[in-house]
Order: sequence, then structure tokens, then C-alpha cells
Amino acid sequence: MTSTPVELNGVAYSLPERPVVVVCVDGGDPAYLSAAANSGVIPNTQRFMREGFSAISHCVMPSFTCPNNISIATGSPPTVHGISGNFYLDRETGEAVVMTGPELLCSRTIFDVIASAGARTVVITAKDKLRKQLGKGLDVSAGNVCFSSQCADVCTLAEHGIENALEFVGRPLPDIYSEDLSLFVLDAGIRFLESQSTPLLMYLSLTDYVQHKYAPDHPKALEFYKALDDRFGRLEELGAVVGLIADHGMKDKCSGDGEYNIIYLQDLLDERFGKNTTKVICPITDAFVGHHGALGGFVRVHCFDGAKPEDVIAFIRPMNGIEAIYDRAQAAETLDLPYDTEADAVVISDENYCVGAAKADHDLAGLNGERLRSHGGFSEQDVPFILSRRLNEAYTERASAERLRNYHIFDFAVNGTA
Ligand SMILES: [Zn+2]
Repeated sequence: MTSTPVELNGVAYSLPERPVVVVCVDGGDPAYLSAAANSGVIPNTQRFMREGFSAISHCVMPSFTCPNNISIATGSPPTVHGISGNFYLDRETGEAVVMTGPELLCSRTIFDVIASAGARTVVITAKDKLRKQLGKGLDVSAGNVCFSSQCADVCTLAEHGIENALEFVGRPLPDIYSEDLSLFVLDAGIRFLESQSTPLLMYLSLTDYVQHKYAPDHPKALEFYKALDDRFGRLEELGAVVGLIADHGMKDKCSGDGEYNIIYLQDLLDERFGKNTTKVICPITDAFVGHHGALGGFVRVHCFDGAKPEDVIAFIRPMNGIEAIYDRAQAAETLDLPYDTEADAVVISDENYCVGAAKADHDLAGLNGERLRSHGGFSEQDVPFILSRRLNEAYTERASAERLRNYHIFDFAVNGTA
């Protein structure tokens, strides 16, 4: 194995000499850590924070899962890797184009680059759509592995670099709507560290099922954080440098009496400018039609004949619950988003509000009357940045001089620990 560092998007990565494991706690708002720490259920994480390194960093905008996982995996903002949501509207064709596949990802990943240099690399995600993107370019015929707990029952050596994954992990296939989907990912990571050919680089990306459903001090959230913490402790015990990061935070989007605070922007725009003059895109959704609420803190608006962008922006700006609105160029510039796929207006709601398309596009039945918790805006940009080991001198200096982003985690974990 060569000891020459490998380079990606302006960052030089040394090849790890001991296992480095980064866990992305999906929707891991700092409030969950505080509540769990106050309840005394996360002793391992607290030890990392005390004896290693702990800070609050910022995720990229929009504060959604996909753009942030890709940023973490490439060490770069969306302007570099091209993924700014789950899908975008093609200006030429008017068609929705899915961004969650590997096709539009225009950067190599840290996994691909480090694995190519000879360090065995393992990537495990909760959901399969993320697995396809994160696994881009990773050579699974060379001992590297990339699979999801969602589809752990159908892994093949040819596509995932592992077969009989359920047997390997020693757990049944988890339900996609359960905390087990995340715990399975961590247990799989632990098995790899316990195995003969220990990987040197691992990325374990969880799902935010629990955080969408439960407030930080809910017994179910505390129970989940305890289960995570037990596993973080085990990863460290097995000799890994453990990095903990999140793709975005999570906030309650209800008024005091539990009423959902939702701005149905498409309905308001239709009323003001007329039908078919604007199109509101909710890039949090998995498909063009809304489901499971599909409500977040960030939407894009496309303007057609009859609705000028400047008029649309002036109409939306004073609305109650709107924190910020940008035109296309400002959005690209201010939020580090790729201009090509950006809309005419980007709308960001405040901490207590969600913004959606038309009321008819959002099915809230799946919430079962529970409180609405979501993300996408600036209010969910704060995420924990934790390492199990102390930083070396150079990175201690960087940490105090720079605005720390969640996508610096691999750089810090691989290059920056003492
Ligand atoms: Zn997420």
C-alpha cells in the first residue's frame, strides 16, 4: 500500500493506518444529543465529546438528506457535486428529473478515491436509494462493499461486494419504517470491524425515522440514542477512530396547540397569478407527487408566462413563516447551489413552519395526528461534529479558524486526529 495521499476536490487524504468510521446520524439535531446527555443514556458519545473533539457544524442547503450525504461523501458543497435535492424541474422539457441516482453526481467520492489507492472501504446505508449514489465508482470486485439495510436480503458479490448479508450481520431484514433500519447499519459495521479483513474506511449512514416521529425528550428517542451510543462505544472499542456527523437537524413545525404550520404556496400563487403560471417543487419528496406529508422547509418555484420572478418573489417575501427568499442567481451564489438546475425562486420557511405545494399534493394521513417534525431550512442547519479522538495541532487550529461544515468530517477523521 502506498502512503502517498490521494486528492479529491482540493483535499488531500492520507490513507488511514487504523480503521476510520464515520456515522451519519440522519436528522441528528443537536437537541437530541442534549436531551440524551441530560438523561444519562449516551456515556460513550459524551466521552468522545470530552476527550476527543466536539463542535456544532453547518450542513449544506437545502438541509435535506440526499445533498448532505453526497457532500459528506465528496467533501464538497452542491456546486461541486451537482446534487441539490431529490429531483429538479428540467427547464427545457418541463419534466421532473430524479437526482437521487448516480447519473447526475459529477464528483468522485472519497470512498472510490481511497479504495482505489488500496484501503479497503465499506459503505452501508439505511435506504437503498442512497446506496446507489454513494457506491458510484466503488470497485466492489476488489474487496470493497456497499449495501443498504433496506435491501440486505438481496445482496450479491457482483453488485454489493457481499452476499448473505443477513447471515453476516446476524439479524433479520429490518422494516423500512423502523429504528431497526438504522441499528442494522451499525451492527453490520461492527461485524466488519470484528471480521478478519478489517476495512480501513467505513461510512455508516442512518435514517431519520425516529427524529421525524419523536421529539428529543420522548422516551422512544432516548431509547434510540442509547442503542446508537452502545454501538458507537463498540466501534471505538474495536479500534476505530469514530466520527459522528448529521446530514441535517430536525424541528417541530406546529403551533403551541399542535396545529400544523404549513404554507401551501402553490395554492397561494395560483390564487394570485393564475393556474399554470408557476410550479412549486418540493425537493424533499421522493417522487413528483407528494406523499408522507412531503413537507419541508425549502421549496423551489418556477415561473412561466403570466408570473414574473420578481413579482412572485415580492408576493412571497412578506408572508408569515417565510425566513428567506432568493432569485436563481442569488440562490446559487449564497447557498452554493448549482445554477443550471436552480429554479427562479428559492423559498425557505422559518423554524416553526413548513412550506409545500398545493394542499391536494400533500397527504398528511401518514402522520396519524402526531406532531409534524421536518427539516430543509436554515433552522435545521446546525449539526453535531464529533470525533472520538483529539485533533492534532494543525486541525485544532483549523477548527477554531474556519466555519466548520459537516462535509469536513472525513478530512478531520482521516487527516486530523492525533
Ligand atoms: Zn436526512
